[in-house]
This record gives sequence, C-alpha cells and structure tokens, in this order.
Amino acid sequence: MYEVIIKREFSAAHMIKEIGGKCEQLHGHNFAVEATVTAPVLNSEGIMVDFRDVKKWLDEILGELDHRCLNELPYFSGINPSSENIARFIFDRVREKLPGGISLARVTVWESENARVSYTGSGLS
Ligand SMILES: [Zn+2]
Repeated sequence: MYEVIIKREFSAAHMIKEIGGKCEQLHGHNFAVEATVTAPVLNSEGIMVDFRDVKKWLDEILGELDHRCLNELPYFSGINPSSENIARFIFDRVREKLPGGISLARVTVWESENARVSYTGSGLS
C-alpha cells in the first residue's frame, strides 16, 4: 500500500464552549492540516496521485475555513469547532473529491506544534 501525505495550513479563530478556561474566549490558531491518501497500485506514470491534485483539493476546502471565525460557519452550528470536529469536516470533504481507487486514510489537524488530532473516518467505506 502506498501513502501520499500532503500538509497545508490555514488561520482561523474559534471559541470552544463549555470546557472552561481561556479556550472559551475567542482566539486564533495557525492550523496545519495533513491529509494521508492511500492506494494499493500506481498509475502508468508510476505515481499514486498527483501531489498538485491533493494540494488543490485541500486548499479548496481550507479556503472555506481560512480567516474565518469557525463558530459562525453552518457546519459548526451546534457543535464546537474543536480540532477534532475540524478534522472530521476536512476528512468528509476531501473524501468527496477523491477519484476511484484512492482512499483517504487520515486527516490530522495541528492546533499547535505540540498538539494534534487525527480523524480516520467511521471505519465504514
Ligand atoms: Zn483554540
């Protein structure tokens, strides 16, 4: 199995409600996002997927989040825009864009250099 891993970044503000502490106040992060796509075979050019395609898919999705207050986006209406929920949002959106034969294994969101979360889907394909 081959894995291609693409990392991109975006900046956004959020508030994490009902967990106490300063995270409940509006604050921002420079988030880093890593998408891991997998496939068992390569194409005739010897690549699994064009890096540029994965970057484009990620950038289209991250463009919806960049320089926004995430709490104001419809997806996060009623749920906290935690890194966990951000990872699920990105995972579901990236998966919609993948061509046949390629799977999305994981989306990882770094909220800081020292803290990250990953979402790997429901386990159902
Ligand atoms: Zn935060």
